[in-house]
Formats: sequence, C-alpha cells, structure tokens
Amino acid sequence: FAQLREGLSRTSNALSDNIASVLTKERLDEDTLDDLEDVLIRADLGVEMAERVRNIVAKNRYDRGATAEAVREVLGDEVSKVLDPVAKPFPPMDEKPFVWLVVGVNGTGKTTTIGKLAHRFQAQGKSVMLAAADTFRAAAIDQLKIWGDRVDAQVICHDVGSDPAGVAYDGLKRAQETNTDVLLIDTAGRLQNKNDLMDELAKIVRVVKKLEEDAPHGVLLVLDATTGQNALNQVELFQQVAGVTGLAVTKLDGTARGGILVAIAERFGLPVHAIGVGEGIDDLESFDAEDFARAIAG
Ligand code: GDP
Repeated sequence: FAQLREGLSRTSNALSDNIASVLTKERLDEDTLDDLEDVLIRADLGVEMAERVRNIVAKNRYDRGATAEAVREVLGDEVSKVLDPVAKPFPPMDEKPFVWLVVGVNGTGKTTTIGKLAHRFQAQGKSVMLAAADTFRAAAIDQLKIWGDRVDAQVICHDVGSDPAGVAYDGLKRAQETNTDVLLIDTAGRLQNKNDLMDELAKIVRVVKKLEEDAPHGVLLVLDATTGQNALNQVELFQQVAGVTGLAVTKLDGTARGGILVAIAERFGLPVHAIGVGEGIDDLESFDAEDFARAIAG
C-alpha cells in the first residue's frame, strides 16, 4: 500500500489541493459545487463520478461549508464503490496451457507487463512461455527476449516482419508439447489502421483456435494511466477488435492521472487484474479497490 500511495501521491495531492482551493466560501453555493465538479472532471475521474460526488456533497448540506476532508471522504467512498466490482484477481488458469493474448497500444507497457506476469505466475508454481507476436518492431522482439532471460522463460520468436499469427501458432504448439502452464502472447498495437489491427488480432485468434478451441482463454488489455482520457478510447477500440476480458493499468507510479482508472471502471466495468507501479520485475500489484480509493482520495 505504501508503494501505491507514494505512486499516486501526485494524483492525490493535486486533487486535495484543488478540492481545498474551491472550498473557500462560507456556504456551499452552486458556484462552489460547479467548481468542485470541475476539479473532479479535470482529475480524469469521469463525468459520472464528478456529478455523483457533487450531488452527495450538495445533499449533505454542510451548513457552514464543506471541509475538504468531508468531500474527500465522500469521494473515497464513491470511488471505492465503483472500483470494488472490477477489482478481480487473475482467473485460476486451470486450462493447460492457459493462453493469454496481451493487447494494447505500443508503449503502454505490454512487454514489461508480460515479463512481470511471467515472474508472478512462476512464483505461483506455474511454468510460463512467451511468444513475440509483435513482429513489426525488432526492439519489441529484443525486449521480450530480455524479459525471457530475466525470468528464465522460453521465448518463441520469428524474424522481424514475419506473420504474427505464425508466431502465436508456434508458441502454442510448443507450449502444448512442453506441457507449459501459461502462454503469454505479446502483440503489436499499431493504431495507424484499425482494420489492419483487427485483421491481425483476428488472425492470431483464428490460428490459435486451430490448436486449442477455447484459446485464447484471456485477452488482457494493457493501458497506460499517463495517457489519461486516451485510455478510454483504447478500451473501446480493443473491445471491438479483440474482445477484452481484463485490464492491466500501468505507470500508476508518479502520474497525476491515476483518476482515469476510475473513469475506465465506471464506463466499462471490465475486471482490473493488476496495476503497474514501476519498471521493475516486482512492480506489478494486484488491484485492491479500497487501497486505491484511499490512495487517491487521500
Ligand atoms: P510496449 O511497447 O507496450 O511493449 O511497452 P514496453 O513494455 O516496452 O514499455 C514501454 C516503457 O514503459 C518502458 O520504458 C517500460 O519500462 C515502461 N513501463 C512499463 N510499465 C511501467 C510501469 O508500471 N511504470 C513505469 N514507470 N514505467 C513502466
């Protein structure tokens, strides 16, 4: 919790300063409530959350003005209510191999998250294999290999420019042959052309299903919290092109935009399996609604 609170301190400090700065009047008038709503919207928490907190604060009729503490308490309670239903651990992964398709825009932290996940699953006693199906960037393949070395997991890769679906197919085949518990497939998140992205992911899924009908068993979307509102568009896009089953939200360390996770939870209700709080191998945490709410609301 200390790491989360530290990571989210920019978000929570900005929020508490801004909340305090609008609560300057004796009475809680409409202007003040408008300003408060604005502050919450600017903190990326989402319009729904901002309105709800405003209404609760208004209804509470803090006669001699609301204290920033009272508002933060309302906020913390409401955030916690929204996050509680989405804070879900990873599924039990009973299928063998359990195939994760890991999707997301380039740069959001897919490869890093895959490395951290491999480490975490291994710590649970599972064997893990990685497939480098982002074949568009040599650096992406190299990066996955580095993580493979670090966690001592086999990395299936082909040359740059080869068919991503071929890598996914080989990865699953190899995972089956070696009786591996979990296969994590890294993919390219090129946004230049939505149809290309859709075709590419659809082909990976099609090819993987040839070997294992139920695969992929999970589609994990990696989102970068620092991109703020863009993250909402990314969820929408990847929902359409890949059918997301769960989220990992990265870079929650040191961002002022941690509130975006609340807006995402409210809008989509997708399970949040883990959050990234740093670049290191252990900097992936399970997502705890209450902790997050408390860290944000201060
Ligand atoms: P990909 O293109 O989606 O595979 O992204 P990468 O995994 O290569 O990550 C892009 C950059 O973000 C790298 O410099 C990572 O070290 C960094 N990164 C990934 N996750 C986190 C995180 O949770 N916190 C921080 N601070 N950096 C992260």
